[in-house]
Amino acid sequence: MDVTLIQDVVSEVMRRMSNHVSPQSTSADVGTGRYGVFSDVDQAVQAATEAQKQLLKLSLDDRDAIVKIIKSTAKENAHAWGKIEFDETKIGRLDHKIEKLQILELVPGVEYLKTHAQTGTNGVCLEEFAPFGVIGAITPVTHSVPTLSANAVTMIASGNSLVINPHPNGSHCAAIAVAEYNKRIAAKFGIEHLITVINPPTLESADAIFAHRGVNLLVVTGGPVVARAAMKSSKRAIVAGPGNPPVVVDETACMKNAAECIIKGASFDNNLLCIGEKQIFVVDSVYDKLVTALQTAGAVELNTQQIATLTSKAFKVDPKDNKPHVNKDYVGKDARDLVIAAGGTSVPPTCQLAFGETTFDHPFVQQEQMMPFIPIVRCRNVDEAMDKAIESEHGYRHTAIIHSRNLDTITRFGRRAATTLFVVNGASPSGLGLGGQGHLSYSIATPTGEGITTPLTFTRYRRIMITGSLRMV
Ligand code: NAD
Repeated sequence: MDVTLIQDVVSEVMRRMSNHVSPQSTSADVGTGRYGVFSDVDQAVQAATEAQKQLLKLSLDDRDAIVKIIKSTAKENAHAWGKIEFDETKIGRLDHKIEKLQILELVPGVEYLKTHAQTGTNGVCLEEFAPFGVIGAITPVTHSVPTLSANAVTMIASGNSLVINPHPNGSHCAAIAVAEYNKRIAAKFGIEHLITVINPPTLESADAIFAHRGVNLLVVTGGPVVARAAMKSSKRAIVAGPGNPPVVVDETACMKNAAECIIKGASFDNNLLCIGEKQIFVVDSVYDKLVTALQTAGAVELNTQQIATLTSKAFKVDPKDNKPHVNKDYVGKDARDLVIAAGGTSVPPTCQLAFGETTFDHPFVQQEQMMPFIPIVRCRNVDEAMDKAIESEHGYRHTAIIHSRNLDTITRFGRRAATTLFVVNGASPSGLGLGGQGHLSYSIATPTGEGITTPLTFTRYRRIMITGSLRMV
């Protein structure tokens, strides 16, 4: 056995062991009205309003301490909460659900709130960043606890409290995490409802948050329907919407690096991430080299018949519009399950990603499929690859990836794609600080333009001008 194969087997065994981790403490008090868990939106907003007033009485150092409580609680409970979320949502990979909580320390806190100062002939000008108040947050099923936790860090760092409407399929784990955070915050600072969560959440409770007079700002993380609903709201909304990230591979790319990065990004949590590689556009002259590199790195190729079989299961035609739509039963499933559904018989235990050639108009290319099968579209040249990649992104301006050593090509694609995240010669998670530079957030505001959210995203700009005094020199 060569060393790479041994490493693969060891990491697969570790992954499976982590799938059998038994939950630690799940005894958090999730009864309604206690530690931030409410069934009624009015009560949650009222509690969050009072909690925010108490937060404002604390110092910035105290806010920093609260942020640290959230980060350490998430890390401490990562295995147990990852398992609870995995069991409840039944999508993605347990090892990555755990990792998404362990890396919460990459989310920025109070250090982002630097006061800007200018002095001059006319006095002193201070620019400060004030909270909005109560923030209504909508979170997705793909990262229920990670999104609410990262939102809590950035929003509380900037002095806000939260009312969260989680996805109904990820609301139990959300309530457990919220109750535990509030318990620990209350024990140290006496504030019980800084993070509130609606349990059980419904579309009606989301609407009630959208319309509530006590909610000062909306932050919505989710797919096209909720993104559109938030954009129509009369309140200011920060919208972290859907993506469909294309990958361009040109003839100058390092195929080994491209293949390994594509596998890493597209298989992370079984491709649930909005930034995850969803379709490849490769220049024809290096198509075979890329396929070989993907196989060498452990991905499994599906043939035309197998792709057709998988497509017939992974998409359902809706009689209303006669178009294929993603079948939720296949979202976030393991690559092995997809290969077997496609009619494949022999799947190595280490397989994390399946791939295969499709046409440009294929549903796997056009839809944000959130499955660890990545289609490859063969293109005559890099210009065609760029054109098709941009078209497949549907103007979300979310994420695009390129593997190339040609600076001119990289620059042209970056300019034309105009996405919030543009990753060059890396795996998509490097755009969120995982194996790359920069900070982490699970809410990447795309249509509204705030980008990878930070505490500053959730602040109101204030200028304090002290005219004619306080200048000492
Ligand atoms: P979803 O759109 O089905 O649900 C997201 C949230 O919106 C849930 O809480 C849901 O209950 C709520 N919701 C849905 N329709 C609504 C409506 N009409 N009114 C009010 N609330 C509504 O998405 P999902 O399956 O949970 O998550 C996956 C989607 O989220 C993907 O499209 C992915 O790209 C996107 N996403 C984006 C980011 C980002 O940072 N940009 C991060 C994670 C996920």
